[in-house]
Amino acid sequence: MNILKCVRCGEEIHDLKPVVSCPKCGGFLIPHTTEKPRKKPGMGVWIWKEALFSGLSRNTVSLGEGSTPLLKAKKIGRKFKVNNLMLKVESRNPTGTFIDRGSATLVSIAKYFGIGSLAVAAVDDLGISLALYARRADLRTKVYMPLSTLASKVAKALLIADNVVLTKDFRESVTKAEKFSEQTGSYIVMPSNPYLLDGYRTIAYEIVTALPKEKLVNSTVLVPVGNGGLLTALWSAFSDLGIRVRYVGITGCEETPLIKDIYVSSPIFKDLIIKIITESGGEIIPVCEDESISSMHELLTREGLFVGAVGASSLAALGKLSKNSDTVIAILSGDGQPDSVVISKLLELRKTKALGLTSLKETKSRILEVIALKGPIHPYAIWKTLKQEYSQNITLRGIYQHVKDLQEAGYIYVSGKALIGGKERKLYSITPKAIDILRL
Ligand SMILES: [Zn+2]
Repeated sequence: MNILKCVRCGEEIHDLKPVVSCPKCGGFLIPHTTEKPRKKPGMGVWIWKEALFSGLSRNTVSLGEGSTPLLKAKKIGRKFKVNNLMLKVESRNPTGTFIDRGSATLVSIAKYFGIGSLAVAAVDDLGISLALYARRADLRTKVYMPLSTLASKVAKALLIADNVVLTKDFRESVTKAEKFSEQTGSYIVMPSNPYLLDGYRTIAYEIVTALPKEKLVNSTVLVPVGNGGLLTALWSAFSDLGIRVRYVGITGCEETPLIKDIYVSSPIFKDLIIKIITESGGEIIPVCEDESISSMHELLTREGLFVGAVGASSLAALGKLSKNSDTVIAILSGDGQPDSVVISKLLELRKTKALGLTSLKETKSRILEVIALKGPIHPYAIWKTLKQEYSQNITLRGIYQHVKDLQEAGYIYVSGKALIGGKERKLYSITPKAIDILRL
């Protein structure tokens, strides 16, 4: 049996209805099932039809979402002393996020009720994913997005949705979407919609089918928080199956534009997810942009996985866990294809690592230090300083090579010239980028 249950008053809904929240008290409706998820032939999330509330629908819209890989990350696992580090790679979905699972179920229900258009109050990826599935099902979409949304995401939404409206903030998106829905009869979609959550639950079904129960019980699940819908859906699915796991919610830092999808100052499901996390013995871990980019690099170079900054954010929390468990499952959700801004940041990091600038013991870091303290300075004076003050033996030619590398990497620049020993020599100073390195 599949139902929607209100978290506030316990009201149960047994039949399909185009609801968005509890008709009695306005609380959140969460899907639950007594069915054991068993794979059936079909497409996308619909292979789990029997354990989905939306499965009651005769309409099924799919773009082949779900069935994403659950990969064991041996090398990163070893580094963090986790025996089974499993990565659920949600970036393999049609628009690169787990949201596609929810879009499949929600759009199918809208189609079933003969709804012609959706009014979406979205934060980033939700509007893009729903608009794409709506295209598939011949529904119209009007997407309201806060002005703070990344330009690349606004561009995608403009391309896919019928209409995109930029708003001051998420609250204004909701108010405007509600008004539009009242005027036109469009079905309003917010991140808390129960039919979205229904589709997200299939992630848990796939994990349960892929991992033996003994590994799963008492494991730690790392979930990006955002508005809390994904965490809530995973909790409802695992609880229905009697599986107790430890939930760790990953949030972004406020000043991290590239991973701001997971930073929501007041998540819609805030109270519920705090309760879920606390009762499971879990914790909330903030992750900043640099840490996420670093994790992207690690996933790429150690495990051969190319996911975006949002996707890698769950993994960035691994080193910050207060308690380790034998099995850790990281949900790598969101932005499958990193955009050019993220790629250039990744290349910068690559260069920094290649030059050995992450460790202050390295010669290049010493040279940077000398330039920072004594610059503008010419290579000959750097060589002399290293020899006399740092007792470092290095050839003058070696110094010139390091200086060239540092200049190419953008850590120093020619800030002047001076006549020294009858010869004109270049003087070097550090750039703001080097200041960040020296602070490490
Ligand atoms: Zn209620």
